[in-house]
Amino acid sequence: MKERVSVATQSQALNAVVFFFREVLRRDPGDFSDFIRARRGRKVPSYYQLTAIPGCGLIFTDLNAMKTNPILLHACCGPCSTHCTKELRRVGCEPVVFFSNSNIMPSEEYALRLESAKKFAADVGAEFVEDPPDNAAWLEAVKGFENEPEDGKRCEACFRFNLGRVAKYAAANGFERFTTSLTVSPRKRSAMVFEAGDAAAKRFAETTEFVHYDFKKNNGFLDSVRLSEKHGLYRQNYCGCVFSKRNRTKNTER
Ligand code: SF4
Repeated sequence: MKERVSVATQSQALNAVVFFFREVLRRDPGDFSDFIRARRGRKVPSYYQLTAIPGCGLIFTDLNAMKTNPILLHACCGPCSTHCTKELRRVGCEPVVFFSNSNIMPSEEYALRLESAKKFAADVGAEFVEDPPDNAAWLEAVKGFENEPEDGKRCEACFRFNLGRVAKYAAANGFERFTTSLTVSPRKRSAMVFEAGDAAAKRFAETTEFVHYDFKKNNGFLDSVRLSEKHGLYRQNYCGCVFSKRNRTKNTER
């Protein structure tokens, strides 16, 4: 029997042949041990995410495609990585946590955040990779934007810088997809993060793509707070760069 015949029809046909030999002809149908039986294909549930991007319209992400290959998850810090790791696993996708944050200063603060991200990955058995920070290159990338408010041009340049490094690592290490925990924070506009991710992926379009995952949806931020408490993770009180630290100090002194 050739292609385009359903699994049920193939089984019925085989049973009919065996019945005919055994019950009608009263003959041994022979050895069937090397016969390849048709099997039903495995049905994988569909997961789609619909994201509205200003200026681009609606974008569908096929989350099924993500199951065939681990995804590189850029972790901006431990607390934000908690919900993202849980959410990616919920849709059947295993993240490799990539800590790439040349924006975080001073070095003592960097060490605290690194430890917190590492701890969570170890707690939940996720693979963890640290990208050694390059503060000087990051400062060069945001030059001229030092006094910008949070959510302005400095943050745009910051996202582009960090996600550029994530895309490069993804492409060099066989990750077909990457995404970022930056969208967990209600203070970060997902559309701005997505634009930076797309720009970063463009340079490696043959090898990797950026997945638009809006982790703040479905109370993602609250879930990250809850999980951070549960795992005893360090939570920072400023975004990460020296400029955000300065602004935070100014505001608390007022
Ligand atoms: S405020 Fe945060 S996102 Fe903006 S430049 Fe500083 S570290 Fe980057």
